[in-house]
Amino acid sequence: MRQIPRAIIIFALAACGALSPIVHPQLPPTNSPKRGAIDRSKVIDLTYNFDESTIYWPTAKSFDWQKESWGTSPGGYWYASARYAASEHGGTHIDSPIHFGKDQATTEQIPLSRLIGPAAAIDISAACEKDPDYRLSVADIVSWERKHGSIPDGAIVLVHTGWGRFWSDRKRYLGSDTPGDATHLHFPGISREAAEFLVTRRKISGVGIDTASLDHGPSKDFIAHQIINGANIYGLENVANLEQVPATGATLIALPMKIKGGTGGPTRIIASVP
Ligand SMILES: [Zn+2]
Repeated sequence: MRQIPRAIIIFALAACGALSPIVHPQLPPTNSPKRGAIDRSKVIDLTYNFDESTIYWPTAKSFDWQKESWGTSPGGYWYASARYAASEHGGTHIDSPIHFGKDQATTEQIPLSRLIGPAAAIDISAACEKDPDYRLSVADIVSWERKHGSIPDGAIVLVHTGWGRFWSDRKRYLGSDTPGDATHLHFPGISREAAEFLVTRRKISGVGIDTASLDHGPSKDFIAHQIINGANIYGLENVANLEQVPATGATLIALPMKIKGGTGGPTRIIASVP
């Protein structure tokens, strides 16, 4: 075979990119936690496990997960597979705007750009400690803004009630653990006025809370849901680990299962903290 000149080989390799370094010299190495826009050493999981003990609304069925195959197959290899069924509204999940907003967005229609955004975490845990039916007020938002500046456009407002510490205790978390009975619930939520303020006076992408509902336990009209979803804004409920999210500076990413036509859905929520 005729020898191909070395210069041609080098030229050909360079042209197809084979000689360029795999890692761009300006980027940290691939195993660095800092590679990419998100510092992986500072990512917090704000999601609860889904299992038989996951808290669902008292009138909803709980998470159903059944093993279908689990072991060595007839072919001699390991094979595991399971099925699940669940209400859209239980565990860490999204309330898509259509949940309480007629003709508003269903789960798959919520743009990704609104599911990623700066977190504005408002800590009302001290007030909730005194009153389990406490509701976020406009005064709470204004006092947060006095310290941290105006809630930024595109923010996901996280209401930290401290209720996450009761997650493993259904009775304490919901105020009642009678299956099928949603009339004796007690936990904090968002007031009508605060919901109106957030959707009309600020340009937020979403609202999240560490309780089972945007509305407080005793609510009968779910007015915070009506106002927030009615403004085509989604809610995140049963958000975990809010005590680890700083008031400002974190970026939230909330990715619901892309259920077409869905009114909600299980959602993996993470926060990248500074
Ligand atoms: Zn819900």
